[in-house]
Amino acid sequence: MNEMGKEIPADAPWAAPHAAEWDKMTMKELTDKICWTKTAREFATLFVNINVTSEPHEVSALWFLWYVKLCGGTTRIFSVTNGGQERKFVGGSGQITEKIMEFLKGRVKLESPVVRIDQSGDNVIVETLNHEIYEGSYVISAIPPGLTTKIHFNPELPSQRNQLIHRLPMGSVIKCMMYYKEAFWKKMDYCACMFIEDEEAPISITLDDSKPDGSVPAIIGFILTRKAYRLARVSKDERKRKICELYAKVMGSEEALYPVHYEEKNWSEEQYSGGCYTAYFPPGIMSQYGRTIRQHLGRIYFAGTETATQWSGYMEGAVQAGERAAREILFEMGKISKDEIWMPEPESEDVPAWPITTTFWERNLPSVPGLLKLVGFSTFFTSVAAVGLFAYKKGLLAQN
Ligand SMILES: Cc1cc2nc3c(=O)[nH]c(=O)nc-3n(C[C@H](O)[C@H](O)[C@H](O)COP(=O)(O)OP(=O)(O)OC[C@H]3O[C@@H](n4cnc5c(N)ncnc54)[C@H](O)[C@@H]3O)c2cc1C
Repeated sequence: MNEMGKEIPADAPWAAPHAAEWDKMTMKELTDKICWTKTAREFATLFVNINVTSEPHEVSALWFLWYVKLCGGTTRIFSVTNGGQERKFVGGSGQITEKIMEFLKGRVKLESPVVRIDQSGDNVIVETLNHEIYEGSYVISAIPPGLTTKIHFNPELPSQRNQLIHRLPMGSVIKCMMYYKEAFWKKMDYCACMFIEDEEAPISITLDDSKPDGSVPAIIGFILTRKAYRLARVSKDERKRKICELYAKVMGSEEALYPVHYEEKNWSEEQYSGGCYTAYFPPGIMSQYGRTIRQHLGRIYFAGTETATQWSGYMEGAVQAGERAAREILFEMGKISKDEIWMPEPESEDVPAWPITTTFWERNLPSVPGLLKLVGFSTFFTSVAAVGLFAYKKGLLAQN
C-alpha cells in the first residue's frame, strides 16, 4: 500500500497515474487482490475500520491509499509510539477551540448554524438559523462538505461542487470511556492497548485513557462502522455490559467487569457532525469530483480537514487547511504572494516524528512480495554459484 501511495500526489490524488483504475476499486477489492491469506484480509478490514471508521467495501482504494499516504504511511498512521496515536493533550483537545475563543474576545458565536450564504452583492452575507445576519468581504467554510447541503447558496453552487457535497458521507463511530477504581491492567503488565478482530466484539481498538499522572484510570474504546450501526440499537447499559465482558475476556481479568463509571458518544447522532472522524470518498468520486474540494467559489473559501494535504481527517489537517484558506484570502487581498499560500508546516521541535525503521524480516517476510524477492535472490545466488562451479570445473576461473 505504501508503494502504491508513492505515486499519488498529496495535493492532487485525481492526477495519479492509476487514479481512474484505483478509484473504481473499493478497498475490499484491492485487499482481496493483494492479501493472500485470511489473516491478512481480516487485518486489512480492521485497518480500514479503525483508520477511517468505514468498511473496506464502502471506500475508494484511491482515496484510502491517499489518506494513508498523507499520514506518513501504514506504520505511522497506525502506531502509538512514534505514530498517529501517540499523543494526547493534557486537559483535552477541546482546549484548542476554547483558547482560540478566548483570544477572539466574544467574536465566536456558538449555536448559530449558518443556513444561507449570499454573495450576489458587494459583500458576502451570511445568515444563521436564528436569523442573525453577518456581512464580510470573504467567507471561510470549515464545515464537513456534506453538511454544507444544509446551506442555501446564492448564486447556486456550480454543478460539480453541488454533486460533490451530496456524495461524501461521514464515517461512524461510538467513542466509549470505561472508568475503573484502579488501572488493574498495569498489575498484569498490560498497556490496555487492544486490537480485537472478533466479529462479535463490540470494540475494535482500545487505549489507556488514564490521566498522564495515572489518576482517573480509564480505557477508551471505539465501536466502529458496522458495529456502531448494530450497537446503536441497544441501550447504553447493554453496550456498557458487552464492553466490560469483552475487556474481561481479552485481559483475562474479572476486574474489568466492575467499572466505576461509563461515558459514551455516538458521533453519528450529532446533527452538525453527521458522523466521524471524517468524510470518506466512495468509489468513483475522487477521480471525478475531487478537484473541486478546495476550489474557492467567488469569495467563499474552503477549509476543514477534508481539504488538507497532510493528516486529512485529523486535527492536524484541519489546522493546515484553515491556515491555507486564510492565506488564499491574504493572497487575494494582495498581502502575500502566491508562493506563500502553501507554507510547509515546520517539524515539531517538541515532538519530532522519528523515521520509521523496519528490520530485514519485517520488510521481506511473511509478505508474498518479500517471499518472492527472497526466492528471486536465492535463485539468483544459486545460479551464480552454479555458473561459478561450472566455470571452476572447466578451469575458467583462476585456481590458486
Ligand atoms: C471519536 C473521534 C476520535 C477522533 N480522534 C482523533 C485523534 O485522535 N486525533 C486527531 O487528530 N483527530 C481525531 N479525530 C478527528 C478530528 O476530530 C477531526 O479531524 C477534526 O475535528 C476536524 O476539524 P474540522 O475543523 O475540519 O471540522 P469539525 O471539527 O467537524 O468542525 C466543523 C464545525 O462546523 C460546525 N458546523 C456544522 N454545520 C454548520 C453550519 N451550518 N453552520 C455553522 N457551523 C456548522 C460544527 O458544529 C463543527 O463545530 C477524531 C474524531 C472523532 C469523532
